[in-house]
Amino acid sequence: MFERYTEKARRTIFFARYEASAFGSPFIETEHILLGLLREDKALLGRLLPDVNYESIHREVTIHTKVRESIPTHMDLPLASECRRALKFAAEEAERLDHRHIGTDHLLLGLLREDHFASQLLREHHADLAKLRLEISQLPAPWSAKNVAVPATGVRHTTAGTVEIHGKRWNSEYVREIVNTFRKFNWHWNRCAWKESDVVTRISDGSISRDLSLAADSANFRLVLGGWKKDDCLICGWELFCSENDPEHGIGCTNGRNWLCTECYEKFFARDFFASANPEIT
Ligand SMILES: [Zn+2]
Repeated sequence: MFERYTEKARRTIFFARYEASAFGSPFIETEHILLGLLREDKALLGRLLPDVNYESIHREVTIHTKVRESIPTHMDLPLASECRRALKFAAEEAERLDHRHIGTDHLLLGLLREDHFASQLLREHHADLAKLRLEISQLPAPWSAKNVAVPATGVRHTTAGTVEIHGKRWNSEYVREIVNTFRKFNWHWNRCAWKESDVVTRISDGSISRDLSLAADSANFRLVLGGWKKDDCLICGWELFCSENDPEHGIGCTNGRNWLCTECYEKFFARDFFASANPEIT
């Protein structure tokens, strides 16, 4: 579910889980996501909503929340349904802006789409969905709508470099962030032909899961053989699908979970592209 999240967005969810545990909440609620955002991306929140700060929101959440014993942080807390919807809205907001990845800015917009505690708190601090959408659309994105280089004067990306992937220029800071995150894990990337895999669908609403163990509950779930039809390159979004005639799309590198197109693998993972000043970053 978090494959498309930027590192900051992932850390926001991590902090949200931490906040939920600290409040002894059995679910991760929208207000925990808001606190996660305020911890993780002070720069963005400070720019868009200067009236909102972690301390004051934390105080208001504390007043509103029934005090419970805190839950050990190693316990995996589920997302409350409002929270799941807010994350779905965040993905929609990313799509509206033609951004492949979901960032803290999209999470903020996702929180404002429905009425719940976090959106009430935000509105009390003068957050307005339409106004924020406009402001966020004008921020320099990790890459522009047409994958054209982001100018050097960007707010979030202050270094000017761009790198070429599949003949298009990408913001090097954006690429570096993803590469560095994934290099930390020391994944083994295996080069192989992309193949369809099985999925499970829930009969009642058609929602999809790759957890095949759910199929054991045959009253509610159905196994769909070969139901997973494509993956996107983790970095550039290049589509990988079953194709014998087109190795550029038909072959990629996988760690068993994520996929990289051959070009991104060769360029950024087979060698340490960002280790020092690289003449290919222009
Ligand atoms: Zn790629």
